Amino acid sequence: MTSSDIEFDLRHIWHPYTSMTKPLPVYPVISASGVELELSDGRKLIDGMSSWWSAIHGYNHPVLNQAAKIQIDKMSHVMFGGITHPSAIALCRQLVDITPPSLECVFLADSGSVAVEVALKMALQYWQAKGEKRQRILTLRHGYHGDTFGAMSVCDPDNSMHNLYKGYLPAHLFAESPECGFNSLWDERDIIPLRTLLEQHSSDIAAVILEPIVQGAGGMRIYHPEYLRQVRMLCDQHQILLIADEIATGFGRTGKLFACEHAEIEPDILCVGKALTGGYMTLSATLTTRKVAETISNGEAGCFMHGPTFMGNPLACAVAEASLKLLLESPWQQRIKSIEAQLSTELMPLKLHAKVADVRVLGAIGVVEMKQPVNMAVLQHYFVSKGVWIRPFGKLIYLMPPYIIQPEQLSCLTKAVSSAINL
Ligand code: PMP
Repeated sequence: MTSSDIEFDLRHIWHPYTSMTKPLPVYPVISASGVELELSDGRKLIDGMSSWWSAIHGYNHPVLNQAAKIQIDKMSHVMFGGITHPSAIALCRQLVDITPPSLECVFLADSGSVAVEVALKMALQYWQAKGEKRQRILTLRHGYHGDTFGAMSVCDPDNSMHNLYKGYLPAHLFAESPECGFNSLWDERDIIPLRTLLEQHSSDIAAVILEPIVQGAGGMRIYHPEYLRQVRMLCDQHQILLIADEIATGFGRTGKLFACEHAEIEPDILCVGKALTGGYMTLSATLTTRKVAETISNGEAGCFMHGPTFMGNPLACAVAEASLKLLLESPWQQRIKSIEAQLSTELMPLKLHAKVADVRVLGAIGVVEMKQPVNMAVLQHYFVSKGVWIRPFGKLIYLMPPYIIQPEQLSCLTKAVSSAINL
């Protein structure tokens, strides 16, 4: 890549959450393998981000490459309307197998945000089919569920700047987010805000949507499993659907295959994405119970009203199937336990640092929350100079490496974080 390529990029290409007038720097990556990204000048960076929770097996994995190559020689895509194919069937079988037993019906979609749209539409159509006008969604502050309008309407109103889209976004209900940390003593008061809103609006609420155990992009908050258990209980009491958005937490990241397992609960609707294809390409799925699926199907429309062009894309399904198999056949629990132990040993001491507000670790997630917002461009440049890829945001510097990372590589990441907080 030449400097004129980079200039073209800055002038013409939008990157996530960036300005066209003051774009943040971008780093040219020409290849990636294992846990390393290679820059165009030959430097290699140890990846601490798994490309936003997705590349759990690392990059350029021979098994996933092979799955893609085999599938591309058969067909890379075919419409899913009126047609089915072996890759979709094999993947959905696996998904039904590994998710909670009550989740039996799978809707394949294009991205995490679309999986959330699908989940919200399922909840709305479910109530419509039952002849009840329930259109409000109850969710949590500091939540993040995607960037499309439906998903955005249930994201934290301040973080996702609902005021920018006022009048266009539906007004949903937001409970204060839980304060009790994963390992702290459970405090009954934590559930009061959600319970109060639920009791006040119970006959208007179609569903509760939340990120189980870890609130990701809205603040990397890690909360107590008892909170999730109580939300499930309250939803049962009021017969409200519970949507678990496991797009970030799914497939082992928190130490369990799905974060709901920490609380031993089953949602009525589950969204997965990101690591589903091992980070190879975009694919998501929304699973639900037979009861929800049948109620929707017996309603006025007689079907579920959604069907994207690339639904069930065979290439993505084939890679996802291979990725799940690879995960389940690997010692993933042990790997994640070791990463968790090392993150705790190497990051927890930073809690004592004057600039640090909190340090949180769960599974293969390590979070350092600073007292002040960080300068992303300065910090990013520093991390690259140290040979690591870590992308902080707001007050958060965090790590979620591929599960195959080796202890020495993980130490490079934690050392870079420790030295960066002194900048
Ligand atoms: N839900 C959660 C919990 C997420 O973390 C994300 C992405 N960060 C999404 C939904 C949206 O997924 P996508 O970016 O694939 O649309």
